[in-house]
Amino acid sequence: MANSNIRTLSFDAIIVGGGGSGMRASLQLARAGLSVAVLTKVFPTRSHTVAAQGGIGASLGNMSEDNWHYHFFDTVKGSDYLGDQDAIEFMCREAPKMVYELEHMGMPFDRNEDGTIYQRPFGGHTSNYGEKPVQRACAAADRTGHALLHTLYQQNLRAKTKFFVEWIALDLIRDEEGDVLGVTAIDLETGEVAVFQAKCTLFATGGAGRIYAASTNAFINTGDGLGMAARAGIPLEDMEFWQFHPTGVAGAGVLLTEGCRGEGGLLRNKNGERFMERYAPNLKDLAPRDFVSRSMDQEIKEGRGCGPNGDYVVLDLTHLGVETIMKRLPSVYEIGKKFANVDCTKEPIPVVPTIHYQMGGIPTNINGQVVVPKDGNPNTVVKGLYAIGECSCVSVHGANRLGTNSLLDLIVFGKAAGEHIIDTVRRAPHEFKPLPKGVLDVTLARIKKLDDSTSGEYAQDIANDLRKIMQAHAGVFRTQALMEEGVKKVLELEKRLENVHLKDKSKVFNTARIEALELQNLIEAAKATIISAAARPESRGAHAHDDYPERDDVNWMKHTLWYKEGNRLDYKPVKMIPLTAETIPPKKRTF
Ligand SMILES: Cc1cc2nc3c(=O)[nH]c(=O)nc-3n(C[C@H](O)[C@H](O)[C@H](O)COP(=O)(O)OP(=O)(O)OC[C@H]3O[C@@H](n4cnc5c(N)ncnc54)[C@H](O)[C@@H]3O)c2cc1C
Repeated sequence: MANSNIRTLSFDAIIVGGGGSGMRASLQLARAGLSVAVLTKVFPTRSHTVAAQGGIGASLGNMSEDNWHYHFFDTVKGSDYLGDQDAIEFMCREAPKMVYELEHMGMPFDRNEDGTIYQRPFGGHTSNYGEKPVQRACAAADRTGHALLHTLYQQNLRAKTKFFVEWIALDLIRDEEGDVLGVTAIDLETGEVAVFQAKCTLFATGGAGRIYAASTNAFINTGDGLGMAARAGIPLEDMEFWQFHPTGVAGAGVLLTEGCRGEGGLLRNKNGERFMERYAPNLKDLAPRDFVSRSMDQEIKEGRGCGPNGDYVVLDLTHLGVETIMKRLPSVYEIGKKFANVDCTKEPIPVVPTIHYQMGGIPTNINGQVVVPKDGNPNTVVKGLYAIGECSCVSVHGANRLGTNSLLDLIVFGKAAGEHIIDTVRRAPHEFKPLPKGVLDVTLARIKKLDDSTSGEYAQDIANDLRKIMQAHAGVFRTQALMEEGVKKVLELEKRLENVHLKDKSKVFNTARIEALELQNLIEAAKATIISAAARPESRGAHAHDDYPERDDVNWMKHTLWYKEGNRLDYKPVKMIPLTAETIPPKKRTF
């Protein structure tokens, strides 16, 4: 491909990702009159946000006493004290306002008799600092993400946001000073490669849940933002912390929302026992996800699992009644039928803990600006680059996310980043910084290598092996030996990347080429995960280390930073000082 034919498109801001976070940010920018382009691998409303079921957290207090202090407390405790308390306070305080904004945009929430937004209980949500469950999850049946994403898409259409659908960003453009000037991208429809130049570039590329074999995540969740950042020398934060959702349909991986238990559903073992009462006497089935997932695994390990192989437990909704199930959990009913062949109004559904959410990501501050250690400051801003949503680590979720706090962080930090970008663009000089020489070299070399391949392995075979390794070596319970073996295996597998064979070299709608390029991102996310995990000798949140079952606050209450170069690890302190509230000091977590 000759460089002279390459198009350069210039915008005030480009957003990579048309999910909830990307579209909340683009809305802010488009409404302010900035030129903004959203690049997205799939049609925006097919982003993974559309699959979110249970709700968005905000202390509206519509149905039980609540305030942002309780929400703040629950989130810090839920994070196993790895969350940054300034960011958590910011998110919890903004939450009610953000939800009302969505309501005013027309988001179709379920309603109470008095017309207020319906809220259901969720895992780890309490009132009065852990005393009793609270109703904080604002819900649109069990299709909250669907309602949210469509609302945002409609508002973006109205604000005239420009979408580049099925344009896939491939590499970040940084100049010699390290400033970010845009991305390179490929058009799936034609195979055209182009440069997207911008004053501000924002990543909203979602999670990398597809590094695991059993996952609730969409196939597009391949961690592209993480791969692009890692290749450009930006570290990834806290990647050892991956959330297993307690209720994935056994064998299928499809999610059954925590809202099932919020509405009163129960987990049972083969004796029909409601076993969570033993592990979490206070919150029971509504303890946080890391806690419930480990308890389920324990039941299975100790021989109380259900089914012929004793390898799952069941989610029992039968006592809720047909009316509640059809009104509040209609998708769950459908999923039970389609993926477990079970009528959940009559029988319980087989479930296992399934990979669901990445707590780590690209390090940012509360304005969504990407930050890296430099000259003694662990949080030096990378000029021109922002990240929000699941690909980022701000860090509000720490070592374990509470359900409903992700949809919330998309909206809160999407808006905050949008506002910061508006400010930056308005204050900055009008010209764009010159693009570095050979701006496309890296990207074109990656594509050329695939185009030149004549023999070798299929990308999908390598990706499948990677998923098996991650499932076996970085699962719910981890041991030192298991993780170290996993590191070796992933590094060996990485060598196989050299040998990828792209059989179909055509340009138009060549999804095989995209999958081969995505594989490079999956591997970066997997390396970051397993290398960071093997280096953390403690148990905290979702990182449950069998050889070190206790949390070690003296040595390990710190954020991990993994660098692609040399697989180097660095660490930075947790921000313990909130903006206005009092610090919540670490305590042993019981529920
Ligand atoms: C089944 C399921 C249910 C969930 N339920 C809830 C819930 O009830 N409450 C809650 O709070 N959280 C929930 N979560 C978590 C939450 O939905 C996600 O964390 C969140 O939606 C992620 O949003 P996002 O904007 O970061 O990214 P996504 O919605 O994943 O969107 C990513 C976007 O990036 C684009 N993209 C990616 N790579 C590229 C590239 N290289 N070039 C161009 N575009 C790219 C994609 O096309 C897409 O538009 C759930 C998650 C799952 C999987």
